[in-house]
This record gives sequence, C-alpha cells and structure tokens, in this order.
Amino acid sequence: MEAYRLTRKEGAPGIDGVTAEDYEANARSLNIELQAAAPPWERGRSAAGASHRRRRTSGRRLLLVLRMGRRRWIWQAATNRMPMAQAWVRVTKRAIHHEVRMRSKRQCKTGAIRLRTTATRTIKRHALNRTVNRQSSGAILAELKHRLSEIYDLTAAGSVLTWDEATYMPKGGTVARGRQSSLLRRLAHERFVDPALGRLIDRLEPGADKLPADDASLIRIVRRDYERAIRVPAEYVARANAHGSASYNAWIWARPANDFAAMIPFLEKTLDLRREYASFFAPYDHIADPMIDDADEGMTTATIQRLFAELRRELIPMVRAICDQPPADDGCLRRSFGEEAQLGFGLSVATQMGYDLERGRLDQTHHPFCTKFAAGDVRITTRVRENHIGDALFSTLHEAGHAMYEQGVNAAYEGTPLGSGVSLGVHESQSRLWENVVARSRPFWEHYYPALQRTFAHQLGSVPVGIFYRAINKVEPSLIRTDADEVTYNLHIMLRFELELKLLEGRLRVKDLPEAWRAGMQAYLGVTPPNDRDGCLQDVHWYFGSIGGGFKSYTIGFQSYAIGNVLSAQFFAAAVKAHPDISSEIASGARRIRTSCPQP
Ligand SMILES: [Zn+2]
Repeated sequence: MEAYRLTRKEGAPGIDGVTAEDYEANARSLNIELQAAAPPWERGRSAAGASHRRRRTSGRRLLLVLRMGRRRWIWQAATNRMPMAQAWVRVTKRAIHHEVRMRSKRQCKTGAIRLRTTATRTIKRHALNRTVNRQSSGAILAELKHRLSEIYDLTAAGSVLTWDEATYMPKGGTVARGRQSSLLRRLAHERFVDPALGRLIDRLEPGADKLPADDASLIRIVRRDYERAIRVPAEYVARANAHGSASYNAWIWARPANDFAAMIPFLEKTLDLRREYASFFAPYDHIADPMIDDADEGMTTATIQRLFAELRRELIPMVRAICDQPPADDGCLRRSFGEEAQLGFGLSVATQMGYDLERGRLDQTHHPFCTKFAAGDVRITTRVRENHIGDALFSTLHEAGHAMYEQGVNAAYEGTPLGSGVSLGVHESQSRLWENVVARSRPFWEHYYPALQRTFAHQLGSVPVGIFYRAINKVEPSLIRTDADEVTYNLHIMLRFELELKLLEGRLRVKDLPEAWRAGMQAYLGVTPPNDRDGCLQDVHWYFGSIGGGFKSYTIGFQSYAIGNVLSAQFFAAAVKAHPDISSEIASGARRIRTSCPQP
C-alpha cells in the first residue's frame, strides 16, 4: 500500500486512474492479510561476502498464510525452499494488488469474488512461477513468444472465419459463425490477459535494455497491449462481439429497406457498450479518447479536432473553388466493362506494384478489405461494378496497399505484436498512398493507360489519357463516402466524427441521428441525402459495433481514414524529396519498389 501511495499525489489519481485513498479503502474492506508465521528474516553475509536474507533459525518449517475475509490459504514448506516462498509471496501480493486496483477502478460489486478466484489460481500456478523464477531471460523470452504465437494463431483463425463469412459462406451459416468468431476472440483475449503472461513481462522488463533492439521493442509493445487488455473483461469482449454480429446482420436487411428505425435499439446498445469500454480506461479527458488511442496510439479527441479544424479551413474554400468550375466529364468511366477483365487488370497492376500472389489472393466481397492470416498469407478482396471501371480498380489498389504493408513486415516478427502495422492511421496511409497519390497521378497513367486501352479497346480506345486522368480525379460533392473524391472525402469523415462524439457524449439521441446527418451533409457538402440508406445507414462501422474504432478490437474508426490521408501525402512528399526521380520512374514503369522481406 505504501508503494502505491508513493506513485501518486495525495487525493489525485495515478496513471491507472486510481487514487491511493480508494485503493486503501478497498484493500481494507476486503480484509486482506498476508502473514509469514515463520521466524523473521534477517540480513546476513554469504561465504563469498554477498549480502542476502536468511532465516534466523534453520531446520523448521516455514508457514505462510494469506487471509482474505474468513478464508485463508496456507503455503508450507521446509526452510530450504526459501526462494519458492519468496516467489509465492511475490506473486500472491501482485495478484492482490492487481485485483484491488481493478476493484478501485471499477468499484465492481463482484470484486471480492474475483479476488478469491484469482488468488486460488495464483496458488495453483505457483509451480509455474517456480519454473519462471529459475529460467534465464532467453528461456522466458522464448516462453513469451510461444504464448504470443498461440494467441496470434487464435486471432488469425478468427480472421479466416471472417474472410470466409464475407466471401463464400452460405447465408445459413450466419448464426453459428457469429458464435464461433466470438468464441475465438474471447479465447485469444483470455490467453492474453493471463496473469502468467504478465509475470513473464515482469521478469523480462528489468533486463530489456540489454536485449537486442527487436526483443526490447517486443517487450515494450506487449507490456502496453497487456496493460490495456487486462482492463477489459473477457466477458465484455464476448458480449460486445456477439452484439456487433447481431447488429451487423440486422443492418444488412435494414439498409436496403431504408429502415433506420429497426437499427435504433442496436445502435443504442452499441453506444452503451462503447461507453462501458471507455469506462475501463477512466479517467479520460474525453469519452472517445480510449477508443481513439486504441486505433492510433497517442491521438486524442482534442488532437483530431485540431487536425480537422485545420483541414476544414483549407478544404471548404477549395471544394467551393473547384465546384465553381465546369465539372470534369467522367462519362468514359461509366461504360460497360466486363467483370473478368476488370479483375484481371486490377490484379496485374497490383502485382506489378509489388503485391506478391505467392503470399496472397484476390476475391470479391460487398465491402473490399485486406486480411492477414500469416506473413505468407495476406489476402485482399474487391468489388466490381460493371458500369464503373473505377470501383474495382481503385478498391483493388487500395487493398493491395494494405497488403503490401503487411507483406513487407519482416517475417521474423510473425506471431508477435510487432508482426503487423503500427496503427490504423498508418495502415490507411499505405493503402491511400497507392490508391490516390500514386494510382491517380498522371505519371502512373502515362505508363498504364496503353495497357488499359488494350484491355478495353472498345470502351477506351478513342479516349485520350488526359480525359481519363481528369475523369478519375473528378471532384464533386456526393452522398456516399466510399464513392467520394479525394478533395471531399475528409469532409465525409469530419461529419461522422462529429456525430460520433455527440452520440457518445449524450448530446445527440440515436433517434435524432438521421436529421443531424442531413443537416451536417448540407453544411459541409451542400447536398442532402433523400433517404437514410444513402445517409446515416450507409457505412457498416457503427452497425458493426464500432464507434470511435479500436486497433486491437478489430474495428476501424473514421478518423483513421483522415489521418491516413494526411500521412500518405506527407510520406510521398518526403519520398519525392529524397528521390526526386520517383514520378518520372513511375511514368517509365521502372520498378524500384521492393516490399517483400525474406521468409525465414
Ligand atoms: Zn483501407
């Protein structure tokens, strides 16, 4: 308790959000007492002169008693097993500390029950701790990596189920699939928050600076993720996932039927769940902060609001200035283009960019996405519209950007948190860099347009590259985010972000969302959706249970798209500064890109 008091100012919470007073009150209310009934320790000197603690008397049995309320646990051993006794005391105290802290944070009514369960588990795991205490740091690191790799495989198995659900699963599998996905996520979460994993991190941290940089980074990242994960009960993870699936399945019907009323109860429950999630991380400056930090570490509601204010100031006059000009003619994109030829062309460009089909594949889904099961299996999906060539082409290149980022990660990190992208915003920067900065540029089409014309000779044979280039960059305020051009896109994001904040804060009721949406669209883009299908029902995010987003909770927040847009432009500007010939190399088709790392 004293140690706890030292880490925070009087009356103020520490970084875990708990005040010393709350902690002590809870500890007292649980009536916890740890007694060493053996004779006291004393300091002594070994034959080699090193200071150590030893028992004053020998030949007796050591008795340690942990009391909580009316229950007690006893650890008894011969005195020559003193290191084990010390380990027992250490892990038991840590378990108590953790539980009291969590109880203080949540003021959870079931705290006492969980405390007993954890203490029992702690005692049962004593054997493991003895092993851990004797292990070298190399062996402990190997044990940590082994555990992380099992968690990674559980998560990847869940991703396979999700991919299958979106690509080939018959409708009849929906209910069972929701249950199966939810189970895998819960199991992965439970394994990750296992106190034994926390103890491995505890053991590794003190010597981390002497380890190779990659291992030191791994310990740092796992510690960060672990500290976040232990705040979220596995029961919540399963509950939130089950609700996300149910809500998504309702939305699949509600959106085509333009039935927002059917989604109101789902969205209200989603909001309650997101508020509950935020409460695990209290205190915060804004209720959305924990979710934003999950998706893009270090970002907060305030930083995003500042970024958006700056963007808005520049974008709105830009949109107006463009819209005052005669609109670009994009008729050449809206002819009839065969599905097979569209898929083939998009994939051939993606592979020339660097997407490795030995470690990937392309399928069709309603919503394009990229998913990773292993370093050697990073898949993308796309969507084909026969009467618009841009849809499949740019979706494929966007998802290939995500996939190349993942394929480019050193395969030695496979199965650990270092083995995937650093944040959702950075991930989006990679997809958007390829999709928009590279693949909508004039030099890119100087090179690829002749091939596109050969593929679609009838539709594009007589259309000059300049017309095609203007068509794919047409700026026009529109209703649908995923169809928006790159000038107006961020305004769609800002509207969603503002509405999310209002919903989370309780300043906007769910039933008033359609009206707020229409007003926001009018203010930002000067257009008003005629129905909710093309209004507040259009995006899957909120109806999949994601408001605010979260990297480790498998959901993206809208703000990450805008962060990605900004980063993509900054990365490309930096690349051109370092290698001014990039644009002319793209125009000449020179391959300078290498995204693949050697496989182990
Ligand atoms: Zn993306």
